[in-house]
Amino acid sequence: MLADRTTLAQFLIEERRRHPGASGDLNGLILDVALACKAIAKRVAQGALGGVLGAAGRTNVQGETQQKLDVLANDLFLRVNEWGGYVAGMASEELEEPYVLPAQHPRGKYLLVFDPLDGSSNIDVNVAVGSIFSILRTPNPGADAAVEDYLQPGSEQVCAGYAIYGPSTMLVLTVGTGVHGFTLEPQLGEFILTDPSIGLPAVATEFAINASNRRFWEPAVARYVDECLAGRTGPRARDFNMRWVASLVAETHRILTRGGVFLYPRDSKDPAKAGRLRLLYEANPVAMLVEQAGGLASTGRERMLDVVPDGLHQRIALIFGVTEEVERIERYHREQNDRAYDSPLYGTRGLFRAPAV
Ligand code: MN
Ligand code: MN
Repeated sequence: MLADRTTLAQFLIEERRRHPGASGDLNGLILDVALACKAIAKRVAQGALGGVLGAAGRTNVQGETQQKLDVLANDLFLRVNEWGGYVAGMASEELEEPYVLPAQHPRGKYLLVFDPLDGSSNIDVNVAVGSIFSILRTPNPGADAAVEDYLQPGSEQVCAGYAIYGPSTMLVLTVGTGVHGFTLEPQLGEFILTDPSIGLPAVATEFAINASNRRFWEPAVARYVDECLAGRTGPRARDFNMRWVASLVAETHRILTRGGVFLYPRDSKDPAKAGRLRLLYEANPVAMLVEQAGGLASTGRERMLDVVPDGLHQRIALIFGVTEEVERIERYHREQNDRAYDSPLYGTRGLFRAPAV
């Protein structure tokens, strides 16, 4: 079966040959990340038989209930990546402060940032979950990294990717030369290149948003969604389907595979939060992947990869997908400042007009 197939290690070695000065540390780090993902995939696949389902009985720094698998996946990422000498520190969704490597291990030149288990609320219902990671250069190779060292815009990422634990386990990554998908061959325990060049289609036929938040949306988002819902007879003159998995990795994988657009926009639900998703370990890696696949990722107001983080756990609005749709949504955000939006579906002229009282 390997006769005409490329393993992840072979792919990385061949990529590295195009950069003669490269030390191989990035490859070593990516292979360690892949090992952590394989270990997590195995535990996820065991489900209830592995005794890993359910709540861990504590909350994380985000104030979210930690699942047992959140804790397990976080520990696996730390253990697998702390000793190799590739990283100077790690930051995780599950840890309030950056992780300082044990004293006996050498400090490397990279920073590893990750969401060890994305979509963990979906575990108990057996829907796809994943892990998301981002690799940055540390400003001080060989020394422990400080919090500020992680606060780099996403454009500085040298690698970004995710593993998706679905019907099959896949690793999807970019090192800045396109997006590549690998499928786990479980008997060999190897990621095999199955999608050498992932590119977004030019035209979107699907959008993904949590519509239960509609009353908190800004006018630009309500306008965009209304126009999609209006379908063939509306201003878009074509029909759209709606999707919502509530697992960022699954949404990203679907959009990279067959296009569409995803919105978790800024809303007025909790004025203290500028969005729901985390900039460093969710929005930035997804944004790099999407741009490398030919799409766009935005806050609605600016390119995601240009945002300078102001905190490790900063939350942000995330809109990504095919270029045409994201550009349109950005335009609606600019235009909403000029004039009030009169919803054709929900306003006085609307389909869902309240009965007169
Ligand atoms: Mn997540
Ligand atoms: Mn998570």
